[in-house]
Amino acid sequence: MSEKRKYKKRFCKYCEAKVDFMDYKDAGTLRFSLSERYKIMPRRLTGNCKRHQDMITIVIKRARAAALVPYTVTRKTVVSAPFENLR
Ligand SMILES: [Zn+2]
Repeated sequence: MSEKRKYKKRFCKYCEAKVDFMDYKDAGTLRFSLSERYKIMPRRLTGNCKRHQDMITIVIKRARAAALVPYTVTRKTVVSAPFENLR
């Protein structure tokens, strides 16, 4: 239930930042839409608009193929600060 609070604000972060193009190498932008286990966050939680969510899914999948973002996180590899190594 605490997770619900975290994503309470219902606006698109990418619209606010005026993101028109996303680079799969730019992990900083992907960060908003990845869970701590590198899953793509659903739109109902992040509040992203359709346009940016579509962009995000494409870019994240591309980043996974380029091994910038892991596909899966096992119990062993899960870390408390998952995005530190993405910088
Ligand atoms: Zn948007």
